[in-house]
Parts: sequence; structure tokens; C-alpha cells
Amino acid sequence: MYAKVIVDIVHEQLDKVFEYHIPSDLEGVLKVGMEVVAPFGNGNREISGYIVEISEICEFDTAKVKDILRPASKRNAIEENLIALAAWMKEHYGGTMIQALKTVLPVKKETVIREKRYVRLLLDEEAGRAKLAEFLSDLRMKSRARVMAALLENQVLEQEFIIKKLNVSKSVIDALDKQGVVRIESEQVFRNPIKESKAAWEPIEYNEEQQNAIDRFREDYLKGEKKTYLLYGVTGSGKTEVYMEMIARVLRDGKQAIVLIPEIALTYQTVMRFYRRFGNRISILNSRMTDGERYDQMMRAKEGAIDIMIGPRSALFTPFPNLGLIVIDEEHEHTYKSEQIPRYHARETAIKRAELEGTSVVLGSATPSLESFYRVQCGEYEIFTLKERSQKQSLPEVYTVDMREELKAGNRSILSDKLRELMRDRLDKKQQMMLFINRRGYAGFISCRSCGYVAKCPHCDVSLTSHRGGKLVCHYCGYEEKEYYTCPECGSKHIGGFRAGTQQIEDLVKAEFPQARVLRMDMDTTREKDGFEKILEAFANGDADILIGTQMIVKGHDFPNVTLVGVLAADLSLYADDYRAGERTFQLLAQAAGRAGRGSEKGEVVIQTYSPDHYAIETAAKQDYEAFYEEEISYRKLMGYPPVDQLLAVLAEGEDEELLETACAYLKKYAERVGKQEVYVIGPASPYVGKVNNMHRRVLYFKHSKFEMLTLMKDKLEQYIEVNAGFKKLRIQFDFNPMNIF
Ligand code: ADP
Ligand code: ZN
Ligand code: ZN
Repeated sequence: MYAKVIVDIVHEQLDKVFEYHIPSDLEGVLKVGMEVVAPFGNGNREISGYIVEISEICEFDTAKVKDILRPASKRNAIEENLIALAAWMKEHYGGTMIQALKTVLPVKKETVIREKRYVRLLLDEEAGRAKLAEFLSDLRMKSRARVMAALLENQVLEQEFIIKKLNVSKSVIDALDKQGVVRIESEQVFRNPIKESKAAWEPIEYNEEQQNAIDRFREDYLKGEKKTYLLYGVTGSGKTEVYMEMIARVLRDGKQAIVLIPEIALTYQTVMRFYRRFGNRISILNSRMTDGERYDQMMRAKEGAIDIMIGPRSALFTPFPNLGLIVIDEEHEHTYKSEQIPRYHARETAIKRAELEGTSVVLGSATPSLESFYRVQCGEYEIFTLKERSQKQSLPEVYTVDMREELKAGNRSILSDKLRELMRDRLDKKQQMMLFINRRGYAGFISCRSCGYVAKCPHCDVSLTSHRGGKLVCHYCGYEEKEYYTCPECGSKHIGGFRAGTQQIEDLVKAEFPQARVLRMDMDTTREKDGFEKILEAFANGDADILIGTQMIVKGHDFPNVTLVGVLAADLSLYADDYRAGERTFQLLAQAAGRAGRGSEKGEVVIQTYSPDHYAIETAAKQDYEAFYEEEISYRKLMGYPPVDQLLAVLAEGEDEELLETACAYLKKYAERVGKQEVYVIGPASPYVGKVNNMHRRVLYFKHSKFEMLTLMKDKLEQYIEVNAGFKKLRIQFDFNPMNIF
């Protein structure tokens, strides 16, 4: 028997299968997906790799083919379906096969397997009694006698119990083992991150829209039809209840389900809702778990100890034996796109996995990604709409305030009169409010109003951010310098920051409302472990009246006592140099508005902006997703941007700027030749961040209506890069339909 192996070396030239012979003693032991050790290269150094195929046929010269040495470890075998998925990811997103395999692997690093040891009595009752008598008659055998007596009561005991409770040393147990009196057995134990709780689930009565979604799903399911569904429903419309009902349906047939949730929304509250309904059959993954804990959850899934895995992106690769459904909540979230190679999108990859396993996918959002809504329009996805909040709570009232008018009227504050008035009202009524800004730091970047000079990081070519304590900090590489108060270019004193940050807002709010209790949540206050949860919990407990924060406060939290949301500087995210800026702005504003009035009191929202007429802001204020979609999709059509056309970004990095430029020019020429003018080539340009850690960067964009055309282009470029020595000193990455323009 022969095995095809992908070796664990990330190098384009080695990105192919290597054939090995399976020695007869390993036949039947080695399986597809296993990690093995094999000799490699002229020196036969030992390397590890993954078996992706086993067959009787060897395509390589059988006289030269080497033997596999041994399995690398007992664990980490990759499911065959996941190997197929990895192959698709490599093809679809670039990178090497080993990178793709490692992405679908439950954990990358070796982890400590936790074991529980048991001691089993091997003698029958009679022989046991005789042995006990023998031990009792010998004063030096007292501890043996204790073990024997206990084992005669219970044939199997935990080793730990014997050592700790019977006060018997390990060497005594080992001696009994050697004598053939007992046998030490071990069992892997997997940690369970879910705390037991008594909370019970009570069935609810679904409203008509929920019932309709559930029924239509069930009908398709019973007919064996596999689809991708978009569950489009405003926040609080009861989407989670619908997911749970659909999951319950597939569980009844002995199948399992994966629920993807953005990490930030994976709160205790969410997990408890699933726990109440499905009890101990659920598990979670999150980034704070150790590799060992994550590994345990994957093993529990594989061995059938759980039915539902809830987690962020990587939970998609849970090795369930009989997957029945994949749910992606908040499917529009940009965190579903990986920033590491392969730069896969969890939504597309989930749909591929579902296809490989013959299951359906349910996507849920109040503000669907343009991609998903477009696919619905094209008839590729089926849509379920939940128009009303589950208990018909009304949507909040939204006011848009034009900050240019405020300035004209003499208000120079970052709080508009309207917002200030409503804040005072809420403080009087003892209701809570949230102020949201999409920036961090004290005052943003520093620039000179006389000459236009902007303080930048010498290594990264991004503007430095002013922090408290007179520091200017680079958010890419961490470079710091002292803040200056006169312009280094022209000597003017009119240098400083203009934009408000969370800290500045906090100071201002405290000054204006000294009686208010204020909490601030941003990158700086949540750096410590659990900092994030602590702040949210304090706010949920009513320890503060006002929560001030960046984007992280608007996602998915449910604070029933919040009746006012203020969005300061709604437009900051509009001017990002990026075709998704409008979409991101709409989503942020709509989500922020969705935070107000989740309880019994009606909510109000104030959106402060310098561009009240921009369609993203107008439609967000009306909470009209469909109106936004119409505007946005016509812009994407006009410009040929995703999801209408497809975009491939090729990011090249290198220390030698001249070499980088030449290489990019060659790439472009080559691409134009093979693309035969069908593929539109943009660039090369200096990306938004032109230099990181002294590496220069250039980016090329390719546009075409068909994705396959771009994957073909990627394959051609990869070959071209591989055979041309000039690219050796550069790092080239591919990113399909990138979330950001570089
Ligand atoms: P979404 O996921 O769309 O934000 P949820 O499923 O979290 O909405 O529902 C919001 C709240 O309404 C939850 O507390 C949920 O238990 C409750 N809820 C949902 N559907 C119903 C229903 N049909 N009857 C009563 N309560 C419901
Ligand atoms: Zn100046
Ligand atoms: Zn820097």
C-alpha cells in the first residue's frame, strides 16, 4: 500500500503530494488524515506530514519510494470531508495545501492529553480474599492490604482515590500491577467548559413569521432538499429561537449542528439559552481557551459526546460524524473573513462544507451582507423574513442631527443640543444610555492647521495617534514618540488633534453631568483578561448610567434598560478609502440603533453627522435596510465591485522597494497577457498602509465577473512567481473579495 502525503513545510515548491510506501506493520494502522513521520530529501531528515490518500497504486518509481516511519501522534487525524474542504480552500483562496490542512485541523499544536487512571482488580473474589489474608499477615504489606480490601468492595477504583484517600503510594500500585493482581487502565478525559445549571427550558409560542420559517425549513428538510437560507430579521425578532427549533429538528434524526457566532457576541447569556434547551449536549469554542481545552471540545464532538458546537469562525471545522445543519448568526460580520492564509470567508466555506456533507446552511442578520442579499435576489439563497420584534416592541425613534448647523448656531461641543437634552432626561428618569464613536485614543491624529503636516510613524507610514500622557503612538507597530506642541515643519503652534476619542468624550460627559456614573469601553480599557466582560456586566447590573465606547459596544448585547443611544461622528467610517465604507457605516448605525429600547420602554437614537444626506446615513436613520441595499447595489454594479463582480487583491511585500516595483510591473504585464484583456487589472498602488516594519508594500487588484476566472489567474500567477527567481525575496499574498482595500 502507498500513501500520498502533504509534508509540513510551507514552501510553494513543496506544495504537492509526496508518495510513500506503507510498511506492512503499519498497514491498517495508518489512515487518511493521520499525521505521520517520514524521511525527506537527500539527507532523509525526518519530517511530518498528513496522509491525504491511500491506494495500492504508486505513480512514483516504486524502486525509489521511501517508507513511512511511524504515526506522529495518536491524535489529529483529519476527517476525509475536511481534507476535501481544505483542498477547496486552497484552490479558492490561495496558499499551500499544508496551510489549508492546518486551518481545518482542530488544534495546531501538540497538547497535553488529560487522562484519568483506574486500578482494576484482576483476581476473583476467592483469590482476592486469599491475597488479602496474605497481606494482612505481613506487617510490611499494610498498604497493599488496604488497596486489596477496597478493591474487594469495588472492582475498579480511581488511582487518585487510592493515592489520596487510602494514602497508598504509586509505587505500591505499580508493584501490584507487576504481580498481576491489578491492572492500571487509563481513559482520556475531555474538559467540559459548560457549567451545570438547573435552568429549565420552557417552550414558547412562535409568532407567525417564525412559524413560517420553521415550517418551510422542515418541509425542505423532509424532502431532502439542501439549501442556503437567509433569515433576515430585525434585532430582537426571535432569530435565535428559530435557529434552535431548526437545530432541534435535525438533532431528532441523530445529526449534529454548528452555530457560528462572532466572538464578541458569544456571551454567557447566549450560551445559557442553548444550554437551557439542549443541556449538556452543547459545547463552545472561544479564543480564551487553551489549545488543550479546544482540542477536548473537538474530540467530544468527534466521539459523539455533544451535538451542538457554538463558536467563532474556527468552530466551522468541528469534526462531527453526521453534520445536519450549519447556522451563521450575524452573517454580515467582517470577522468571518480570516486574516491568515488561506484567507477564507466562513460563509462561503460553510456553504461548501454543507455541500460536501449534504446539509443546509442558515444565515441570520438584521443587516445582511450585500453578498447574501444579492444572492437572494439572484435566486441562489432562500429568504425568511421576520419583520416584527418578537413581542411587537416598536423600533426606536431616530433623530439625525446636522453638526454643521450646530456649529453655525454656536455650539462647538461634540454633543449636540438634542443629544444633551435627551441625556439629561434619561438621567432624571434613571434609565441607561450608550454613546458610540468609531475611534479610539484620546484625540486621533495630529496635524498642523497652518501647513498641513501630519505626524506619521517612520516605519509604517500611518498617522500616529495622540495618547494621554503626551505620547504619540503607532497602532500598527507600537512605535512611540513624545507629542510635540509646535509643528516640526513650519514651527506653527496650531498643531493638534481634531477628532474626539472615547477618553475625550468621557471627560466631557463627566464635566457636563457630574452626577452621572460613566463607564468607558475601548481597546484601552479592555486590554486585561475579561476586561470586556467586566465592563458589560457592570453596565448590565446598572452600575453606570452611561456606557461610552467604540464599535464593540454596539454588537449583539441586550440591555433592556437602555433607552437612548447617541452616535457621535457617524460619518468617520464613511471616509475610509474602501468600497465597503457605506455598508459598514449602515451596519454600524443600524446595529447601534438596535441597542435602544429592547425592553418595555421605547428607545430613542441620536445620529450626529456632517453628511446627513448620505444614503447610508439616511437609510440607517429610517432603519430601512432594503432602501440602503438598492442604493448600494447600484453603486457596486456601476463600479463593478463585489458582490456583482469579483475582486482579487495581490499584496506584495519586500524590503527592497525597487525590486518590489519591478516585480509588480512584471506581474501586471504577465497578468494582462494571460487575462487577454478580459480580466481588469488595477495598480500596482501603494496601499493605505504603504510600509509596515520596514517592509514596503504594493497591491494589485484584478476584477472579473466570474470567480473561476480569478482563481485561474491566481494559479497562473503562482506558477509564474514560483519559476521566477526575482520573487524569492518578496512575500506575495492573495486575497479574494477582501474585506478592506489595503
Ligand atoms: P434575535 O436573535 O433575532 O435578536 P432573539 O431570538 O434573541 O432575537 O429574541 C429576542 C427575545 O425575544 C428573546 O428573549 C427571546 O427569548 C424572545 N422571544 C423570541 N421569540 C419569542 C416568541 N415567539 N414568544 C416570546 N418570546 C420570544
Ligand atoms: Zn506646520
Ligand atoms: Zn509603526
